[in-house]
Amino acid sequence: MARNMVFLGPQGSGKGTVIGKIKDRFGVPHISTGDMFREALKHGTEFGKKAQEYMNRGELVPDDVTCGMVQERIARDDCVNGFMLDGFPRNLRQAEALSGITRIDTAVLIDVPEEVSLERLSGRRQCRECSTIFHLKFVPPKREGICDKCGGELYQRDDDKPEAIKERLAIYRSETMPIADYYEKAGVLVTVDGSGTPDDVVALVLGRLG
Ligand code: AMP
Repeated sequence: MARNMVFLGPQGSGKGTVIGKIKDRFGVPHISTGDMFREALKHGTEFGKKAQEYMNRGELVPDDVTCGMVQERIARDDCVNGFMLDGFPRNLRQAEALSGITRIDTAVLIDVPEEVSLERLSGRRQCRECSTIFHLKFVPPKREGICDKCGGELYQRDDDKPEAIKERLAIYRSETMPIADYYEKAGVLVTVDGSGTPDDVVALVLGRLG
């Protein structure tokens, strides 16, 4: 049976890293709305340019744009066994829209205190080509500035700079946190402590996903 999962947690909680390590076990794709917007931008599409204005300010892209993009993505063939959504839903309207499109079996909240988020985001570097995530201190690449996996260039996202980080964490507190209650009431929420190493957090998540 398909397993439709959403991953919640503040920026820097390690959602993307954890999903990258476990998705193959479940045979489902990792769908990151942030990566989808960055990809559109890289290809210079009108859609990408529209999203960029919001992203650079650390604000949310409007819900109609984002929900439409996700609806189209999860309808593709590679989602027959389910999916792992990362960065969506980000507010209650998106969570309700998602429930209108499909069933959610599990919502995994990876919880970390704000100071951990800040430290992780400020050291984060991402590959321009394959989107793999590194960290200057915790997961350094073998060669500075170069992706271990594909040799692509590593860069710091504009929205991982201090002002945008503050804005994004404030939005997380006010808009995204209430989604945890929404999934709790639906009886599908599992919460894990995300402050350990990536392997620690993966073990906790796998333990809860069964
Ligand atoms: P992320 O990589 O998930 O931190 O996303 C980077 C940026 O993409 C966010 O700060 C938003 O501007 C935009 N974005 C990603 N996911 C969403 C979403 N579900 N709703 C609205 N905007 C989003």
